[in-house]
Amino acid sequence: MKSHEITRRWVDYFVSKGHTAVPSASLVSSDPSLLFTVAGMVPFIPYLTAREEPPYPRATSVQKCIRTGDIEEVGKTARHGTFFQMCGNFSFGDYFKEDAIKFAFELLTKSVDDGGYGLPAERLWVTVYEEDDEAERLWLTHTSIPPERIQRMGKSDNYWSTGQPGPAGPCSEIYYDRGPAYGIEGGPAVDDNRYIEIWNLVFMQYQIENVRSKVDFDIVGELPKKNIDTGLGMERLAMILQGVENMYETDQVRPVIDKASELSGREYTSAETADDPHHADDVRMRVVADHVRSALMLIADGVTPSNEGRGYVLRRLIRRAVRAMRLLGVEKPVLPELLPASRDAMKGVYPQVEKDFDRISRIAYAEEKAFLRTIAAGTTRLEEAVKLSRASGTALSGEEAFTLHDTYGFPIDLTLEMAEEAGVPVDEAGFRSLMEDQRTRARADAKEKKSGHADLSAFQELLAEGPTVFTGYTELDG
Ligand code: ATP
Ligand code: MG
Ligand code: MG
Ligand code: MG
Repeated sequence: MKSHEITRRWVDYFVSKGHTAVPSASLVSSDPSLLFTVAGMVPFIPYLTAREEPPYPRATSVQKCIRTGDIEEVGKTARHGTFFQMCGNFSFGDYFKEDAIKFAFELLTKSVDDGGYGLPAERLWVTVYEEDDEAERLWLTHTSIPPERIQRMGKSDNYWSTGQPGPAGPCSEIYYDRGPAYGIEGGPAVDDNRYIEIWNLVFMQYQIENVRSKVDFDIVGELPKKNIDTGLGMERLAMILQGVENMYETDQVRPVIDKASELSGREYTSAETADDPHHADDVRMRVVADHVRSALMLIADGVTPSNEGRGYVLRRLIRRAVRAMRLLGVEKPVLPELLPASRDAMKGVYPQVEKDFDRISRIAYAEEKAFLRTIAAGTTRLEEAVKLSRASGTALSGEEAFTLHDTYGFPIDLTLEMAEEAGVPVDEAGFRSLMEDQRTRARADAKEKKSGHADLSAFQELLAEGPTVFTGYTELDG
């Protein structure tokens, strides 16, 4: 089942259950405290927190999301994209736990001929919050999930709150068992790769106060209007329904992997574990496919590369994609080949990526060119350093790797790879410790600035002017 069919069925089902279909909001969140829309519920926050009267009691959406916090997982797990689409159904003081559970189970297991997704119920596992007896009872009463496939989890996994006083409540998550080839038996509590989380049901039920941390607060009462907020990862369901190994191989992402493979002449093999000799290359191709798509969608929503905030995230995504292609041996500009492949995979659902492609591609290609210039300058310096190291039989020093990174914006993984190719080891520990020192200094500066001891704004502006200097602070590994 193709992605567009999955989302069509989603909306049809929930509209048939009285929900209003609400189009995806922009990736650029209207909530100033968030850089990006990170979940389907973000556009509904005013209704969920009862700050505004909802125009409808139930809603459904397929929301574009960006989660930069997952960037290090991309390509390594089967299930984390920086961009993904979250299918959601929402109740604002209308239906609650029982219907949320019934809807989810019905849609997932209903036959494909009948408008559902046709997942075998025997493959589904469920988690509930450890004190939520009600949720467990509802799963047992209204679905065919047996007690042995329901696991209880603590606050850190199965409790939702914003970390602020306000609404909060337990969650119940639905997992799909991919089978023994993917890991050990025992349910999601023991293996999150074999048992893939597909859908999170949040039951906003309580008012919390005295919030000491995300898991430590006082429940002061029940909410007068209880809400439902759910999120299903469209790409995760697509990976199951399309019978592929991971979300990067689904129909909206895979074409870019194929393009990356064609450009680099390296075969893509779906390698899953690091002991597989193809793993490093396969991860790179998955990273490329993910990041190119995220860049496409971010620029489409009005983000442009810069040295801070949203633009910096975009810059980092483009640089990481370009760098991954270099590590695959491709040194010429790659976005003119990869971006159209991503556009073609996405335009069916998001026609604006085609209509606006002139503008989008101009921004992306210029950013790649600028980065390639940066790399060229760094390469010259690196080659000199490698020559000296080889002549003296020493490792390339941590200081040199740090200068390359900090002053030339030359990513550490390229330094490692190119030095290794030349048979010269790099003092990576030395590099890491210099990075750590720099971070400590940056934190101290920030603290000082905050406490008002020094006004560093002029200094910060100066830093931001240099195209490469700033990256040292926030870009962990280049
Ligand atoms: P995980 O534990 O796998 O990281 P999560 O618990 O962080 O997922 P939620 O915040 O519950 O995810 O989001 C709701 C749903 O959105 C998840 O059940 C999943 O299907 C999907 N989802 C979350 N993060 C991603 C991501 N980075 N890429 C693709 N889908 C995602
Ligand atoms: Mg997560
Ligand atoms: Mg989770
Ligand atoms: Mg979750």
